[in-house]
Amino acid sequence: MMKNYVQSIKEGLLEVLFPSICIVCGLKLSAHEHFVCSHCMTDKFEEANLDHQRSSSDTLLPEGVYLQHALWNFDKGGELQDLLHSLKYNRLPGVGVDLGRQLGKSLKANQWFKDLLLNKDAEVVLIPVPLHWRKRRKRGYNQAYYIAKGVAEVMKVSMVGKSDVLRKKNTKTQTGFTLQKRKKNMEEAFSVANAEAVKHKICVIIDDVFTTGATTFELASTIRKEEREEILIATVAQA
Ligand SMILES: [Zn+2]
Repeated sequence: MMKNYVQSIKEGLLEVLFPSICIVCGLKLSAHEHFVCSHCMTDKFEEANLDHQRSSSDTLLPEGVYLQHALWNFDKGGELQDLLHSLKYNRLPGVGVDLGRQLGKSLKANQWFKDLLLNKDAEVVLIPVPLHWRKRRKRGYNQAYYIAKGVAEVMKVSMVGKSDVLRKKNTKTQTGFTLQKRKKNMEEAFSVANAEAVKHKICVIIDDVFTTGATTFELASTIRKEEREEILIATVAQA
C-alpha cells in the first residue's frame, strides 16, 4: 500500500519534471515513444537519398569510401536543425538513441548496403566520430556515440570501444570555414589505437550531420590505413 503510494507520487513528480511530450512538435507521447513521436520520426522531415545514390548528389566520395548514407535532408533554420542542436548541446542522449534507431532502419533498407552485405562475408562495426576528450568533458558526452547506440540496437551489430579510435587533435569549430580550411583543420585529427577493432570489418562511421565530408572523410582516410574491409558513412542528416 505504502509502496504504491510512494510509487505514484514518484511517477506524478516525474511527469511534472519531465513531461512526456515530443521535443519536436510538443504533442503528448504514447508509452512506446521516447523523445520524438512516431509522426515526427517518420513523416516530418524530408527523407534523403530516395533515388538510391551512393552519396548526396554533389559529393564525390574519396577512395575507400563505399557509401555515404543519410536519413534526412538538413533543413537550415528548421525543426530538424533545432532537434540536432538540442541533441548536441542540451544533454539529451536519449534523443540520439531514438534518432539512431531510425537511421539504422533506413541504412538496413539501403540497396547499396544490402548489396554489400550479400557480397562480403564480414562483420559490421560502428565507429561514432570521436570527440576530443576536452570537448567531451565540456559538453558532457559525444552525441555520435548515442546515435551509434540506436543504430547498433536495430542492426544488431557492435560498436568500437571508446578508446579504439581516438580524436587526438582538438579541432576548432568549422562553421564559416571554406572547404580548404576545413580540410586543413581536420588533418591528422584521428588515430586508430586498436587496429583489431576494425580489422577485416565493414566499418560504418556514424555522425549527426554530413556537410562537406571534411570530418568523416578524414576519419575514413585514417581507418583506410588499417586492414579494414569497407568504409561507409551514415548520418542522421545531410546538408
Ligand atoms: Zn512529434
